[in-house]
Amino acid sequence: MTFSIYNFGCKVNQYESQVMADLMIKNGYTLSENKEDAHIMIINSCTVTSVSDNKVMKLIRHLRRKNPDSIIVLTGCMPQAYPTMSEEFLQADIVLGNSKRAELPETVSSFLSDRKHIVNIHKYTKNSDFEITSVSNFEERTRAFVKIEDGCNRYCSYCIIPYARGPVRSKPLSVLKSEIANLASHGYKEIVLVGINLSAYGQDIGTHLCGAVDAVCNIDGIERVRLGSLEPERMDNDSISRLSKQDKFCPQFHLSLQSGCAETLKRMNRHYTPDEYEQIVNNLRTAFDNCSITTDVMVGFAGESEDEFSQSLEFVERIGFAKVHVFPYSQREGTTAAKRTDQVRNEIKAERSRIMIEACEHSRQAFLNSQIGRTEQVILEQLDSNGYWKGYTKNYTPVKLQYSDGKSGNIETVHIVRACEDYVVGEYIDKFCQ
Ligand code: SF4
Repeated sequence: MTFSIYNFGCKVNQYESQVMADLMIKNGYTLSENKEDAHIMIINSCTVTSVSDNKVMKLIRHLRRKNPDSIIVLTGCMPQAYPTMSEEFLQADIVLGNSKRAELPETVSSFLSDRKHIVNIHKYTKNSDFEITSVSNFEERTRAFVKIEDGCNRYCSYCIIPYARGPVRSKPLSVLKSEIANLASHGYKEIVLVGINLSAYGQDIGTHLCGAVDAVCNIDGIERVRLGSLEPERMDNDSISRLSKQDKFCPQFHLSLQSGCAETLKRMNRHYTPDEYEQIVNNLRTAFDNCSITTDVMVGFAGESEDEFSQSLEFVERIGFAKVHVFPYSQREGTTAAKRTDQVRNEIKAERSRIMIEACEHSRQAFLNSQIGRTEQVILEQLDSNGYWKGYTKNYTPVKLQYSDGKSGNIETVHIVRACEDYVVGEYIDKFCQ
């Protein structure tokens, strides 16, 4: 029988989709060439905004109409956070909570035997363990995303994720090392460590995120190590100093901001001020040559006044991010912010998004322009139809270059000559002529 996976949301979900694909293949199922023709269609959902929920429900309805005999499996954060959405979930044959994904092949077999609707959602408790999973292959051929942490204990007032993911749980270093060694043996050179609240890695098992970075950097064959999204205040001086000593560590920091206004951050239950955030950015820029700082910014959070939005905008402009993901606040049932009576109207959110995105596009262009004239190492990834190789520098600047002897996975030295809208153009430098 064939299966396909539809993935929504973050890099952690992407990793977990790969874990499920590996599990299905190990149990004799085949990945379908055409997603919509598969016998089993697995939807790995995201519930970070109501837009994500709508997309998932729309997909289920579409797949049900298109292929009525197929088996639809709904899993991920949406059923875990909202297990009582039973009516919507009835359209899926199998509904699996986040902690039950390892049971996917057995659950499918059980459904095949009697075709009875299955719902298997287990509520997380404070004693829940890290679900030990590993992957040996990834869709991208040079870079692998590896989940090392699950859960979050922070309860930002807008966020439903702690309810969907449970408390902080970390992957033991021994498991991480063997997973990375396996990926290295399959040719992966770059590892991105990801988690739901990655900065909290290790707090439950007496280790630290920097320990995970050190462990991965020490594995032969791995050339680059990156980190996923980080909570700014956890990037203290000790961590910065430790990371800066690792040659393989890539100076690209996604520091979650959410707002550049102190009052808004307080209502969000975030644990830093804009001044503290700026100091951390300055520390990173001092410790790492040519580092890139990227972030997420929410607009229209409950109670965000014009003045608060202006403060946030000015802050974002001042920092000069390399890239920003801007998104409007979405009320999530079950969170404290959803109960507030000072919600911002949708038209205002849309207008603030537009203004913030425009400002961030200017910063993005300024960052790309700042890379012109630099000589950087680029891991080649894909050759496009125009004969350009695409790859990334250590600070995750996308580079295109023409190089007839290029090969996916090779690391080449490139001189950056020009910036375009969302990438830079480089020229290959012959190693022997440097
Ligand atoms: S840190 Fe805040 S925003 Fe991030 S997952 Fe935890 S509660 Fe949600």
